[in-house]
Amino acid sequence: MRILVTGGAGFIGSHLCERLLHQGHEVICLDNFFTGSKDNIRHLLTHDHFELMRHDVIQPVLVEVDRIYNLACPASPIHYQYNPVKTIKTSVLGALNMLGLAKRVKARILQASTSEVYGDPREHPQKESYWGNVNPIGIRSCYDEGKRAAETLFMDYHRQNKVDIRIVRIFNTYGPRMAPHDGRVVSNFIVQALAGKPLTVYGEGTQTRSFCYVDDLVEGMIRMMECEGFIGPVNLGNPTEHTIMDFARIILGLVGQVTPSTGSKILHHPLPADDPVQRKPDITLAHQHLNWSPKISLDEGLKNTIEYFRSRCTPA
Ligand code: NAD
Ligand code: UDP
Repeated sequence: MRILVTGGAGFIGSHLCERLLHQGHEVICLDNFFTGSKDNIRHLLTHDHFELMRHDVIQPVLVEVDRIYNLACPASPIHYQYNPVKTIKTSVLGALNMLGLAKRVKARILQASTSEVYGDPREHPQKESYWGNVNPIGIRSCYDEGKRAAETLFMDYHRQNKVDIRIVRIFNTYGPRMAPHDGRVVSNFIVQALAGKPLTVYGEGTQTRSFCYVDDLVEGMIRMMECEGFIGPVNLGNPTEHTIMDFARIILGLVGQVTPSTGSKILHHPLPADDPVQRKPDITLAHQHLNWSPKISLDEGLKNTIEYFRSRCTPA
């Protein structure tokens, strides 16, 4: 198949492009390089079945493809809050343009939605049937409401125009090729620990997250795209939940194993506004419909990720 991946030069997108090429597909990677990088896909540039297109999803595009994975959108709070108006335009106009393309060329299209559609959840763990608790006027709203509106557009194009859609709600995902300075907790803690600096825990660190390794996530996304008779939304994430304080201790322990000289400690910073208190996916639907569940332990995934950052962020 010929497959378009928007946001393909980003963290998750680059792993997805790689896996699709490996499966024998032709891949067109579309990206405006806001948070993505050519470094993430440099090793794919010479592949016969790989094409790179510099383009912004807020503008229409016409390419003949069989599948569209719509990932274009900054994902870390620092990046999506940098230009919030652009963030919501990317989600909403990007969804409109990609759905219009899917309708025109009769492609199947998958939306990379997010656990942020649940906001600061009152239901725990979060099931797909939960409508969420999102502040519509806060600093996270450009991302959360943009992604919610994109889901609405996907459902309406499906009901109104019979577009063949899939929606996945991605929970916190980590792995090699995360941008080292994107402010997310995994990259921040690893980079800080490797540099022997204090780990910045926001608030008391009692808030929880559940971390999924990127290879598991990509497997789930591809299974969902190729699944017949189920459009979602479906949660994709690892249900093993940690407090952020626990997570800091885990990183310190693991980095200690690779650089015993690290002198990292924990430093508390103020908690950002609207930071969700708890998050953990219920993945029953993914298991039932896709026979999917994460396989890679936090320990194994973090070791790979630490090695990646170590090779990039510290002197040899
Ligand atoms: P990322 O920032 O590394 O990747 C996003 C990519 O989209 C980048 O390459 C960026 O340059 C590109 N992009 C941004 N705006 C664009 C535009 N207007 N036009 C074209 N390209 C544009 O982030 P990621 O972690 O790889 O996330 C990928 C997708 O998955 C995003 O849609 C994100 O919302 C979703 N997601 C990620 C996570 C996670 O934990 N990583 C969780 C939930 C949802
Ligand atoms: N966080 C933290 N220290 C950091 C970065 C993040 O304590 O240096 C916290 C943040 O407040 C949140 C959690 O870690 O509670 C996850 O943050 P991230 O930005 O990675 O993802 P999201 O909040 O979007 O789930």
